[in-house]
Amino acid sequence: MTDSSNEPKDASASVIAQQAAMLSALPFSDTRDFDDAARGFLGTIDNAAVTTPQGRTVWSLEPYGFLSTEEAPPTVNPSLWRQSRLNMQHGLFEVVPGVYQVRGLDIANMTLIEGDSGVIVVDTLTSIEGARAALDLYFKHRGPKPVAAVIFTHTHTDHWGGARGVLEEDALATARVPIIAPNLFMEHAISENIIAGSAMLRRAQYQFGPLLAKGARGQVDCGLGKSMAAGSVALLRPTDLIMATGDRRVIDGVEFEFQMAPNSEAPAEMHFFIPRYKVLNLAENCTHNFHNLLPFSCGFRQG
Ligand SMILES: [Zn+2]
Repeated sequence: MTDSSNEPKDASASVIAQQAAMLSALPFSDTRDFDDAARGFLGTIDNAAVTTPQGRTVWSLEPYGFLSTEEAPPTVNPSLWRQSRLNMQHGLFEVVPGVYQVRGLDIANMTLIEGDSGVIVVDTLTSIEGARAALDLYFKHRGPKPVAAVIFTHTHTDHWGGARGVLEEDALATARVPIIAPNLFMEHAISENIIAGSAMLRRAQYQFGPLLAKGARGQVDCGLGKSMAAGSVALLRPTDLIMATGDRRVIDGVEFEFQMAPNSEAPAEMHFFIPRYKVLNLAENCTHNFHNLLPFSCGFRQG
């Protein structure tokens, strides 16, 4: 026997009124974000689908096809609906010539910075499968190159979990490719994801709703991106820690200047500036939607 009280319901009159108030309060006619989100698009894979070698789905945007209509249904906040549609952009994008991003293959992005002979991978998504798919997509459009370094901007799993997917076995065995991270990276990555792992996962299930059916009466989006990726995760120990604001590294001929941002969006986090490309990376401390403001244990979550 099914319990009808657990079934998704229609929006009540008060919810419909609140959605209408939101529609009139915000400038929905300003669509510049859609142009910005599409800028620099180079190519993608169908539905951003990532699978394991055995064919199990790690990530796919196909279940979000219901977001094709511009107008929000009464059950969804119109601002969330708009953001959800923006988050349907996926693939490889050029930020500036020499700097690229893979977006929409995970809740996080991977940034690829071209050096003199290789590519520096900044943040490696949640899963090994996703990271490999993202790097392959980059290689397809920019040509294969050796990975010259990996940088983890912060301790949240979706920024390091897939690192094995971008490093060859011999690179791992010989540690010839530097893995660069902010000071205290391992301490916080382990305390957040292993010691507090069960509590973090339970909270993430409430925060992101991965157990809800996807749809206009279920899970729609997390604001930052779609949801948590499945797949294989491995934590790799950094080989080089950034200790202080102003620290510099020259990686594959490219100069990086770092800024420490501890106890911000994550307990160990850092930013960097690349003079060659005039690119500033603020990790997850600068987004259109500060997703870690609302959770009740702010700064202590995955994202
Ligand atoms: Zn984060």
